[in-house]
Amino acid sequence: MICLGIESTAHTIGIGILDNKKILSDQRSMYTTEKGGIIPSEAALHHKKVKKELLSKALEEAKLNVKDVDLISFSQGPGLSPSLLIGKEFAKYLALKYNKPLAGVNHLCGHLEEGKFFTKAKDPVFVFVSGANTQIIAHEGNKYRVFGEALSVGLGNALDKFGRGVGLGFPAGPKIEQLAKKGKYIEIPYVVKGMDVEFSGIVTHCINLYKKGVAVEDLCYSLQETGFAMLIEVTERALAHTGKNEALLIGGVAANQRFVEMLNTMCNDRGAKAYACPLKYSGDNGVQIAIAGIMQYKSGYNIFKTKQQIGNADINPNWRIDGVETPWIRK
Ligand code: AMP
Ligand code: MG
Repeated sequence: MICLGIESTAHTIGIGILDNKKILSDQRSMYTTEKGGIIPSEAALHHKKVKKELLSKALEEAKLNVKDVDLISFSQGPGLSPSLLIGKEFAKYLALKYNKPLAGVNHLCGHLEEGKFFTKAKDPVFVFVSGANTQIIAHEGNKYRVFGEALSVGLGNALDKFGRGVGLGFPAGPKIEQLAKKGKYIEIPYVVKGMDVEFSGIVTHCINLYKKGVAVEDLCYSLQETGFAMLIEVTERALAHTGKNEALLIGGVAANQRFVEMLNTMCNDRGAKAYACPLKYSGDNGVQIAIAGIMQYKSGYNIFKTKQQIGNADINPNWRIDGVETPWIRK
């Protein structure tokens, strides 16, 4: 089965074509800014501008025509509405024009299924750490459940916020990782509340220390050690609670080698296995939406088939991962 997946939840529009387990194409275009964060309406404008060309490139790479595709899937949420709308409209247009079924995919579900697709993890505790989202997730019963999460900002955004405060530019994560190698530990707050974590106070604390003259390298090191340790603690408890023996790191912050090392150490200590999604696929892309799309189609979940169903398909900007049914996972 060949699926064309369209991702457009935030800064990136991606089109991926997948033939069951084989990736036929992976085209992406990212909206970037010189300074400051993402402006939703401008990101959407970017996606609108490039979508047709991106589709042509994806089809060319796959050596296919839309007619050869069996299924169109799109990121239905969660995400920024203006960006989501562009992907949805494009997917609906293609489904109606070429008379193909349409799958509405939860973007987080795309990340989770993609993590399993690219690693040997079968039923892991997911450590999902991206810019906006930081959640510890595992499959229990008949759905993905959130065992702990960042209460205000995700860890990626927290690192970027710190970076802005000390003049590192965006994205700050990779720069913080490099600077941390030359730093030493200084004490900063460690905030775990039950199974949830809170980063914003820590970031403010670190920026204030910077203003008082504390070396940026020491702050980078301490921020990393503390932020990662908080998540590792919650992950370890999620492993103990669920009885699972695999942890899978996904999201942009998974690029951080120190984080991967800390997760490895914790997992080794308790006889569990640690995995990380390959760097290339840790960011938003169309392939992840195609992977989940095929699973959904085969199990009949959230598929729009008739012209009327496709016409009524809409975005779901606040769709949480625990609101997804997962009939493709049988235990
Ligand atoms: P995502 O939202 O999944 O695309 O991830 C983007 C986030 O990952 C940004 O906040 C980056 O600062 C962060 N990030 C990227 N590379 C690294 C790294 N090496 N260490 C820490 N954070 C990183
Ligand atoms: Mg994402």
